[in-house]
Formats: sequence, structure tokens, C-alpha cells
Amino acid sequence: MTAPRARQEGRLRRLAGDLLSLFQGLGLTFGYFISPARVITQQYPENKASLRMTPRFRGRLVMPKDEAGNHRCTACGLCEKACPNGSISVLSEKDSAGRKVLGRYLYRLSQCALCNLCVEACPFGAIAMGQAFELAVYDREQLTLVLNQKEETTTNV
Ligand code: SF4
Ligand code: SF4
Repeated sequence: MTAPRARQEGRLRRLAGDLLSLFQGLGLTFGYFISPARVITQQYPENKASLRMTPRFRGRLVMPKDEAGNHRCTACGLCEKACPNGSISVLSEKDSAGRKVLGRYLYRLSQCALCNLCVEACPFGAIAMGQAFELAVYDREQLTLVLNQKEETTTNV
């Protein structure tokens, strides 16, 4: 086979491949057009009230508490050590019996990469990645949170 002919055949093969992928794309679009129930694009924010994230979605860090406001954190500091960018500060204190307990659990959302390493490091299941996804605020001080209080608060520490 001569070189010009081989080049021409190569071009024709590429053209055929391009046309095939074009028609595949058009077929997919047409399929969604005639059966809109298959469309998985979220109509956000119109569907805000009913929108549920997938179970493995990683929103910001949360510290689950029971009805009395108790958490499971022992202030061991493993999550703080596991965090690659210093988003967590575990500030411990002593209780009346002289035992180390959690004072304040500071979480800096502005630095957090949502990597989940802190959650994996915690031996007590005291923290988790939450489902919240609307995290924008107007004041950057609101991005540093104290997670261990019954109602989460912000801090400028
Ligand atoms: S999710 Fe990652 S970056 Fe965020 S606090 Fe945990 S370890 Fe740090
Ligand atoms: S959240 Fe878990 S790993 Fe972090 S200080 Fe508390 S008990 Fe330790």
C-alpha cells in the first residue's frame, strides 16, 4: 500500500469513528428527550426541599451527638494528627477527677479538603462527614466551628 493511500484510509477511519460517536451522543440526547424520567440531572435549586445526597457524599465535618448533647470524643487527638492541613484543633482540659476530656473541638472549614482522613483515624466514631453542601458564608469567621457544643457555634480562634 502506498503512503498517500494509507493516509487517506487513516483519515476515513477517523471520520467514521467521529461520526459514530456523534450519532451515539445524539441518540443518547434523543433517548432522554422521549423519556424524561431517565434524566438524572438535578434541577437545583428548584428541588432543594426534596434533594438528598448519596450516603457516601462528603459534606463538612460533623460531630454527631445524642439527645442529651453528648458526643463520643475522648480528645485523643488522632484526628488532628491525621489531618494533612491543620483543619482540626482538639483543645483538651481536665475534669474534676483529673481526667483529660474534650474542651473545644475546632474545625476550620475554610482549610478542609473533605478528604475523610480524620474520620478514618477516629477510633470512636466520634466524627463523620455530613451531608450539608450549601457551605458559603459572608463572614470568614463563620468558617471556624466549635463542633462539640450542643448547638454548633462559630469562633474567631
Ligand atoms: S476531612 Fe481531611 S482536611 Fe478536612 S478536617 Fe478531616 S482530615 Fe482535615
Ligand atoms: S474525634 Fe475521635 S480521633 Fe478526634 S480527638 Fe475525638 S476521639 Fe480522638
